[in-house]
Amino acid sequence: MLCGAALCACAQVPEENPQIVAHRGYWKCEGGAQNSIASLSNAAALKVWGSEFDVWITADDTLVVNHDPTFHHRMIKDVPFADIKDLLLDNGEKISTVDQYLAKGTEYPDMQMVFEIKTYNDGVDTLYESRVVPACVETVKKYGLEKRTTFIAFSLTACKRVKELLPDAPVQYLNGDLSPKEVQAHGIDGIDYRYTVLHKHPEWVKEAHDLGMSVNCWTVNAPVYIQEMMDLGVDQITTNEPTLVRKFIAAGN
Ligand code: MG
Repeated sequence: MLCGAALCACAQVPEENPQIVAHRGYWKCEGGAQNSIASLSNAAALKVWGSEFDVWITADDTLVVNHDPTFHHRMIKDVPFADIKDLLLDNGEKISTVDQYLAKGTEYPDMQMVFEIKTYNDGVDTLYESRVVPACVETVKKYGLEKRTTFIAFSLTACKRVKELLPDAPVQYLNGDLSPKEVQAHGIDGIDYRYTVLHKHPEWVKEAHDLGMSVNCWTVNAPVYIQEMMDLGVDQITTNEPTLVRKFIAAGN
């Protein structure tokens, strides 16, 4: 499959409903790798609404982009950045710092940065959360990306801390265990739930919308679930298959 970067970069970002979020960037193509700079660029070239990525902090306070808490068998939170900085992603890129990732993001002014703050032992290791959340917010501010960054996290504590530090930033809670009303009571303005949660609680989409909250869902790759989430009226679909979701949206319109 062609990478997004190989597609025409001249078209405007289409108005799509639901909006498409490329999960860990658009990486299911030649030269792609999850959470790589290439996957971010591929998502931008594909003209999707947003590109999601995962963030951890090292023992010496460097924010890095990676899904798992470990990278090449090293626990990111326990090692200095020097221990992992030359280790490679599947496409041969070195692991990105969030500085590098957001610097690249400034080149794509039409795309939302969907910034997942990963937490160790969600909501329990408050010391870790007290380090990682302010560092994430400060880095977004450093690159002037406050207005087009959506923060997401499984940790309710992390979500609330982002809202304290950056009240205008959209924040979507990931964990799926609270109703929209309960999430809003914590001052959080969106949900980003696994599609199985919305399958079980379809009424939560309307409840969220009635409360003025946004609804995102993950990770929706199979046609049956893409159609189901569209029929529920979610605002965003987070997917490893952005071109497939786009076909469904085009067919639905
Ligand atoms: Mg993620």
